[in-house]
Amino acid sequence: MILGTVFKRVVDEAKNEAERKAKNAYWVTCPECGRQVVKKELASKGCYICGYQENGNVSDRGRPRKPYQTHCPECGVKVITQQLHEEGCYICGWRRTGGSA
Ligand SMILES: [Zn+2]
Ligand SMILES: [Zn+2]
Repeated sequence: MILGTVFKRVVDEAKNEAERKAKNAYWVTCPECGRQVVKKELASKGCYICGYQENGNVSDRGRPRKPYQTHCPECGVKVITQQLHEEGCYICGWRRTGGSA
């Protein structure tokens, strides 16, 4: 039966499509070397072929600490806390130790 064969082919293609989608969720193309690598591996350890890393960090341990940020009470712009305390807000010039001086 030709009709049955065609139907089977359609089903197979749908199955292949689903499999391909599942694979796409699993595999990803490395932007650096263009090879197919496991998505999870690329995200966590980087490309095993060329060493590319998504976030650019070599390792989590050596990651520099982010400076604490705070909002300037005057203009509300996010500024580095330490800088705000030492030099004042670089936007509006607000200083914590203002007044008597
Ligand atoms: Zn790569
Ligand atoms: Zn300010």
